[in-house]
Amino acid sequence: MSTVASIEHDLRAAVAAEIVTPTAHYLADETEGRGVRGRADAVALPRTAAETREVVAWCYAQGVPVVPRGGGTGYAAGAVPLDGGVVLALERLNRLRSFDPLLWRMEVEAGMTTADVRRTAREGGLLFPPDPGASEQSQIGGNVATDAGGPHAFKYGVTGAWVMGVEAVVAPGEIVRFGGPVRKDVASYDLTSLLIGSEGTLGVITSVWLRLTPAPEAAWPVVGFFDGVREGCDAIERLVGNGLPVAAIEYLDGETMRYAGAGFPTEIPAGSFCVITEADGSTDEAARVRGDALEILGETSRTLYAPESAAEIAGLWTWRESVALRVKAQLGGKASEDIAVPLDRLAEAIDESLAIGARLGLPAASWGHAGDGNLHTTYLLPRDDAAQLELAERASDELFDLALRLGGTISGEHGVGAVKSAWLERLLGPRAYELHGAIKRAFDPQNLLNPGKKI
Ligand SMILES: Cc1cc2nc3c(=O)[nH]c(=O)nc-3n(C[C@H](O)[C@H](O)[C@H](O)COP(=O)(O)OP(=O)(O)OC[C@H]3O[C@@H](n4cnc5c(N)ncnc54)[C@H](O)[C@@H]3O)c2cc1C
Repeated sequence: MSTVASIEHDLRAAVAAEIVTPTAHYLADETEGRGVRGRADAVALPRTAAETREVVAWCYAQGVPVVPRGGGTGYAAGAVPLDGGVVLALERLNRLRSFDPLLWRMEVEAGMTTADVRRTAREGGLLFPPDPGASEQSQIGGNVATDAGGPHAFKYGVTGAWVMGVEAVVAPGEIVRFGGPVRKDVASYDLTSLLIGSEGTLGVITSVWLRLTPAPEAAWPVVGFFDGVREGCDAIERLVGNGLPVAAIEYLDGETMRYAGAGFPTEIPAGSFCVITEADGSTDEAARVRGDALEILGETSRTLYAPESAAEIAGLWTWRESVALRVKAQLGGKASEDIAVPLDRLAEAIDESLAIGARLGLPAASWGHAGDGNLHTTYLLPRDDAAQLELAERASDELFDLALRLGGTISGEHGVGAVKSAWLERLLGPRAYELHGAIKRAFDPQNLLNPGKKI
């Protein structure tokens, strides 16, 4: 292996991409708030797939680890270089390769932000439904690599449901394409799906073909405030049990509302558990579903809020996007997980996840994508307090254990990255884990693509 100085120098001499000295920005993601920081020898900033290929080929030939990086908004330390090597930052690979509104599809490069993908679709009268929270920073490549979700995944599915094809650089440095503009294609093993959610461990995604859908005519949220977790979760089960085709079902517990409620667009009853749902579709359909949602939530809610103007509706979702950052601002840091459980175990999971915090003396709050049984229970931490960070690690381990006990999973949408890799084998069992290892070795025989992540 080359020395630190020579990796940056030699890589710069060998490839067309700009190579820069790593700054703090490229050594961390959202897990910085729980003390995770990495170390790298160089950062590569390719502008094209061909430049990306050159970097991967050089690293593979030299035995140097490559860590793909999107917007760095991940919660699993997937983009953090654990032990040197090259950070391959995709931010300059951000062009729209093609957009065919009449055919409901586009091909975009990996570094385009999620918000730009959604804006482009909207300008053509279409919807790209996945809406993970940090959309102005996260990139479509990062979304595909983590198979990101978001509030509207309840109706529309996670990112992978909208990916028709992937272009990627794979070891030892070749560009391959799985899928493409074709809506149906069952000829091969489904390697597109294998790349989706692979967290940079199988290849570097350089572009994706996305399926789009006509934008709904109307989208009207309905918010209910409830006495507590049990009452709120009962209302969520009633929404689902009544077969209401709502687009999203979100929950925010009383502690979350206490920390983040200041920016909520209207007055909120103190200490209440909040449920946000949304009716969308044609104007008639959305009005019908909205009416039903008001009735179902209204059966037991303390109060309801159902904004109708575009500004109020945008204000509500902008506030929802800001919740994670508002909670983090309380003490400066936080450990946030994304376990998912079967919907009928949601109330139990929320209660028990908060009890873990209480037992360990960590302030805790819980919110998430209720319809998908996906919890973002969060433990608040002062920045750089070693004792509290250790407690937070214990709390996260107890959370993962809880998820498995309730028949759920350690990650509903953020991925495994570095922070949960010790848990994947327990989730999968020995044979399934062994098969994962075989896939990793087939794609990356030298274990240089994001080593130490996921598997
Ligand atoms: C405020 C906030 C709200 C959030 N809300 C949600 C939410 O609702 N739903 C949700 O799912 N997530 C959410 N997230 C987490 C995060 O935004 C998503 O995981 C997102 O998909 C990460 O994208 P990124 O571009 O920032 O990727 P990064 O953090 O840079 O990387 C994530 C992983 O993908 C890999 N990767 C990145 N780009 C590529 C590529 N081109 N090729 C191969 N591998 C690559 C990295 O190596 C790493 O393993 C939220 C984060 C924040 C800060």
